[in-house]
Amino acid sequence: MHEYSIVMSLMEQIEQLAQDNNANEIIRVDIKVGVLSGVEPHLLQNAFDTFKLNTVCHDAQLNMQLQPLVIECRQCHHKTELTERNVICPHCKSYDTRVIDGEDMMLMQLEMNAS
Ligand SMILES: [Zn+2]
Repeated sequence: MHEYSIVMSLMEQIEQLAQDNNANEIIRVDIKVGVLSGVEPHLLQNAFDTFKLNTVCHDAQLNMQLQPLVIECRQCHHKTELTERNVICPHCKSYDTRVIDGEDMMLMQLEMNAS
């Protein structure tokens, strides 16, 4: 499943950060999930709860923030937040836009305990 491999790489990233900070326990994991990332939040939550048991995250809470799609227009340079996939600039109706956020899943912040 897609979400399992995402959580596995997320855990690797977290374990590394915990090690770098001499933390032995993660309390909270804040992630940002783009609406176009293809990640199903409840599947990600399930995968996280399954994987966390044998990791530094065993008691951690996963805090997901849904990131809407943000496009930037190359014509009028407006940035627009969208809730669904759309490439048309609402300001000037141009198709000449690019996605600047909402496509990926990112680790934002960790709350950790050091021994
Ligand atoms: Zn525009």
